[in-house]
Amino acid sequence: MTKVFLKRKIANRIFNGHPWIFLNEVEKINGNVNAGDIVDIYYADEKFCGRGYINPKSQIIVRLLTRKNEAIDASFFYKKIEQAWQYRQKIGYTENCRLIFGEADELPALIIDKFNDYFVIQTLAYGIDIWKPAIVEALQKLFSPKGIYERNDVPVRELEGLPQLKGFLSAAFDTNIVIKENGLQFYVDIENGQKTGYFLDQQDNRRAIKQIVKNANVLGAFTYTGTFEIHAAHYGAKSVLGLDISANAVAQANKNAELNGLAHICKFEAMNAFDVLKIWAKEEKKYDVVMLDPPAFTKSRENIQKAITGYKEINLRGMKLIENGGFLVTSSCTNLVQPDLFLQTIEMAAKDARKKIKQVVFNAQASDHPIIWGLDNTNYLKFLIVEVRDK
Ligand code: SAH
Repeated sequence: MTKVFLKRKIANRIFNGHPWIFLNEVEKINGNVNAGDIVDIYYADEKFCGRGYINPKSQIIVRLLTRKNEAIDASFFYKKIEQAWQYRQKIGYTENCRLIFGEADELPALIIDKFNDYFVIQTLAYGIDIWKPAIVEALQKLFSPKGIYERNDVPVRELEGLPQLKGFLSAAFDTNIVIKENGLQFYVDIENGQKTGYFLDQQDNRRAIKQIVKNANVLGAFTYTGTFEIHAAHYGAKSVLGLDISANAVAQANKNAELNGLAHICKFEAMNAFDVLKIWAKEEKKYDVVMLDPPAFTKSRENIQKAITGYKEINLRGMKLIENGGFLVTSSCTNLVQPDLFLQTIEMAAKDARKKIKQVVFNAQASDHPIIWGLDNTNYLKFLIVEVRDK
């Protein structure tokens, strides 16, 4: 096995369990390596650190798979996936769940979403991509699924020297499926939907709006396929309008409203939410509840300030649209904007909007996406409900 030696002064991060090793943390490599090879990592004092996969083309040169001296083979991946499944079952996620959440499940760069009998996979680094056959075999053995699909049409793969692609990893199947969530039904377009087709990370937060939407006029922005909005209608909202810039998402959202018999309450329109929030705030339109769930605003540290400005702006406008005593339901999935910073941003927005806010709920993502302390990017979703009053 090729040995990779770390520099003497490395970040505590690695000692403390973080699985990434950056190019500039490596002192020397004993032997030739190809992308995807399994290598052994040693500290500068020659003590064993762990075993992982290497990609000399990537800034993250090694991602550790284990701290033990154990074989990395098909049965390793089977065991890891089985463990992750047992954990999901233990904490109550069985029908739909994120089965593998990458680093949080000690399978760096691997995502597997389970939509009942269907599985959607992303392999986002070279060294995990080559294990795809073993991963598929493990899913076949554990679940006998109706279908497995890969959504590797993700730009981040190019940093690893991997092509973007999508397609079947099992016999072909109809990729338009229906899943159940909180007693409602939703179409999921596995082939052409965003990310893996559906945002499972908000599955518990969608229930958190139950009380505050009763008899409310609700505005949702960045609705995707309308899941929050359809929950609102189901929980007793008087009217719900959802906005998304994607015409496909809006079409799917309207179909979802119909599927649940809520099309008379819930309407969706294709609009740019940034523009609309600005105009409607000026026009002094009012809603009892405003819900915002925008896409990530940045993936790079240089742009954090821009992301914060973006959050401040949409939340300020959202608050202005709320009746005195109404509620703002607001989310952020930008992992570089950590929870404290997000709350500070909402506080600034309230100040500028001249509103008093009261925290009702503050959550992260659903627990099938485990948060690992020390792995900051596993703590990525912020979900906040505040009551909003005039000052
Ligand atoms: N709330 C959804 C997920 C939203 S994902 C759920 O729980 O399923 C973010 C959505 O914002 C995407 O559907 C994307 O199409 C949409 N979006 C991005 N930019 C937008 C804009 N300027 N105006 C409106 N929607 C936008």
